[in-house]
Amino acid sequence: MRKGTAGMLAACLALAAFPGNNGRAESERQAEAAAYAFGEALMEEAAEESSLFDETGEPPDPAAETEPGAAPASAVTPPEAFRLLQKGSRGDDVRALQLRLQELGYDPGTPDGIYGSGTKEAVKAFQKRNSLSADGIAGQQTQNRLYAADALGPMAPAEPTDVLAGEWPMLTNLEYPVGEGFVPADLVLMTELCDPGLIKIKYPETQAVRTAVEALVTMLEAARADGITKWQCSAAYRSYAAQEKLLNNRINSYLKRNEGWSRGRARRAALKTVAEPGASEHHLGLAFDINVPGTSAFIGTKQCTWLHANCWEYGFIVRYPEGKQDITGFTPEAWHIRYVGREHAMKMWEEDLCLEEYLAQYRPAEAEPAGDQPAPKEPDQPGAEDEEETEPEMTWEEADG
Ligand SMILES: [Zn+2]
Repeated sequence: MRKGTAGMLAACLALAAFPGNNGRAESERQAEAAAYAFGEALMEEAAEESSLFDETGEPPDPAAETEPGAAPASAVTPPEAFRLLQKGSRGDDVRALQLRLQELGYDPGTPDGIYGSGTKEAVKAFQKRNSLSADGIAGQQTQNRLYAADALGPMAPAEPTDVLAGEWPMLTNLEYPVGEGFVPADLVLMTELCDPGLIKIKYPETQAVRTAVEALVTMLEAARADGITKWQCSAAYRSYAAQEKLLNNRINSYLKRNEGWSRGRARRAALKTVAEPGASEHHLGLAFDINVPGTSAFIGTKQCTWLHANCWEYGFIVRYPEGKQDITGFTPEAWHIRYVGREHAMKMWEEDLCLEEYLAQYRPAEAEPAGDQPAPKEPDQPGAEDEEETEPEMTWEEADG
């Protein structure tokens, strides 16, 4: 069991794809920019005419002219002198940076001239969106880009996806990650549907897809009828950003504990137990981490035994079973169940197939997702330097950080 628990945590989180820019938002932005520039050009023309013979008799300063076709002017005046800005910085240049972030649609918090955590996160989001290294520090490159007329605002959220619409269960794994803007349709707060006497929702803000939560409730009512009570849900739907945060926290904790490690090495180590943003099944809103309140072990409890023996009847699968890690890409996770519907779940249970095997065996080739599903992603190859590492013993508690 020691061996089994070591690293059990990874699957609950997962990996990611980077979708292209939102086409509609981008074209709208461009259209807006063009319209604005056109209006500005007209005004400039008029202003130029009237200023040709002004009181001084001097021609207008050519430096004050706006280049034709320039994008919308910013209401924020960039600071005159460059200074590297980072967490802890204060001043008018910080305020200008905050106002510009706000103008573009990011949320740096109150523009108070103090570079705090909110500003850092907003700078990171800006950097990521504008293909800069996302370190949250506003250096020369970041500031140049920030005040540029074509600086990109945040990506518009994607339309919610009906994750239960297809005939076949949606596959999300290291090879088929969801995009950054992915959000499932019909998310509900679990506390709205779950009686606390039936299952404790560890974090009250936890959401999941309604149909899956309803199936969970039905299943746990059956468990109660069998005399099995005291359940807890520690994780369900998780956004791409939340997964990213989880991974970064783990990377930082490795860096803190291991002097001399590079960030790359810490990242590879973290990825053994935390999925990359986009590859987590939790993104679908159909997966639950189920355990027993007040206990970090789950394997060996009567709840675990009942769950593994009966979940199929209610449309759930144990998504990362023992002995299938080479196929699923995740170390076994006894606590992680995934809703796929009763028909699929029963078949997988009867034939001892994990989801990847099941789809490969039964789903007709023409039913394979195309177009909207990103191309398979090559999993990261662990570096040789990782071999000396001892994998930490993991529980669902650590997995859900
Ligand atoms: Zn999980």
